[in-house]
Amino acid sequence: MKNLHLNKLPLFIITAILLGVSLATTTVLAGTKQLTVRASVLNIRRGPGLAYDVMGQSQSGARLDVIGQRNSWYEVRLAGNKVGWVASWLVNNDDASTSAARVAQVNAQVNVRQYASTSAKLLGTLTAGTNVKVVYSQGDWSQIVYKNTAAWVSTQYLDLTGQTATVTSAQTAISKANTATQIKVTTNTNTHLREAGGINAAIIEDLAKGAKLTVINQDGDWYRVRAADGKTGYIASWVVSTPSDGKSSKAATSLAEATIVLDAGHGGSDPGTHANSGEYEKTYTLLTVDDIASQLRAAGANVVLTRSNDTYVDLAKRPIVAANVDADAFISIHFDSTPTANTGTGHTTYYYTKAKDYHLATYLSNSLTNLTTPSRGVAFGNYEVLRDNKQPSVLIELGYMNSDSDFKKFSKPSYRSRAALDIVNGLNKYFAAGYHR
Ligand SMILES: [Zn+2]
Repeated sequence: MKNLHLNKLPLFIITAILLGVSLATTTVLAGTKQLTVRASVLNIRRGPGLAYDVMGQSQSGARLDVIGQRNSWYEVRLAGNKVGWVASWLVNNDDASTSAARVAQVNAQVNVRQYASTSAKLLGTLTAGTNVKVVYSQGDWSQIVYKNTAAWVSTQYLDLTGQTATVTSAQTAISKANTATQIKVTTNTNTHLREAGGINAAIIEDLAKGAKLTVINQDGDWYRVRAADGKTGYIASWVVSTPSDGKSSKAATSLAEATIVLDAGHGGSDPGTHANSGEYEKTYTLLTVDDIASQLRAAGANVVLTRSNDTYVDLAKRPIVAANVDADAFISIHFDSTPTANTGTGHTTYYYTKAKDYHLATYLSNSLTNLTTPSRGVAFGNYEVLRDNKQPSVLIELGYMNSDSDFKKFSKPSYRSRAALDIVNGLNKYFAAGYHR
């Protein structure tokens, strides 16, 4: 979508704009910042956004020199003096001696494990209502600080509070050791346990695909490990996978690189419509957006909210938020109402511009499969937050406030977390299909 605007400008103006931006930011940041790749694999793109082609990838732990910044994307210098762009939220800024953790509340009793696997050693359990510091989330698993060390819990049991806390470097150092505690052989060709790190070192024994190894330490590209039979030796890091990193051989997903604006309908002096029992729409739009935000952040996305508490936000300001952050998608959440109580039911996904919004609406509507209310499909909707939006945008009505049966369903957290998961799935498919370009 962004390219459409550029195409209308004469080439010399585009060149001038790009040069101007890159020169200005380069001057300020040159040589001052280094970043460490936090995602398992990070896409490096030709420009600051999903619409640009991938020109290469960088692995977790790699360090990159920053030379510029634009729209939450960093411009980085690569080997061979090439220049590319990475999503800022997928890298750590090394300037900080302590790293920021997000505070989450446990929403049901959850097992705490030594690493990100249900077969990993059980370290304990946390009860609902406990606050934890989330160091890192990847897919279904989140790394938390537990008894002053790092441990893993299933992401679905965590609700982010929106607060942050600091984590000491000692705790993050331990967390790195924990993530590599157990590794698995991923290939059955030429997989040997060796006496030293290096492909010419003597072979102790052959290892089968799937064999589990315990890491003693890491030396460059080689792990010193203990095999199931107790023998110790060295194995090449490129023939194993670490449990914390199920995506080690895959590219960063487009969703992980996307900026999503979530718009909780109404707020403050504008309560929206209301349930037959009097509850306000604005309460449930915010609760739902909180759930979607948590799930999207767990998937690595950059999430921006038009409101995060019960305040009034003018309708005209909401699309501007999306434009300011160059959002890849804008999703407005509402609940419906009918003139007569208990005459409507189901969820509807609205779009305004066929070319810009329709695919997003279709992918999201088709993915809302786990809700207990019926789907009313995709429809045209003349709403200001869509009409004035320059980014791909949809408005989803997730049920009827003045339907007793709909309200009973979506007033439960399980309905809203299912909606959140479905929306994450829909966005994944939408970005994978490439319609955002
Ligand atoms: Zn509404």
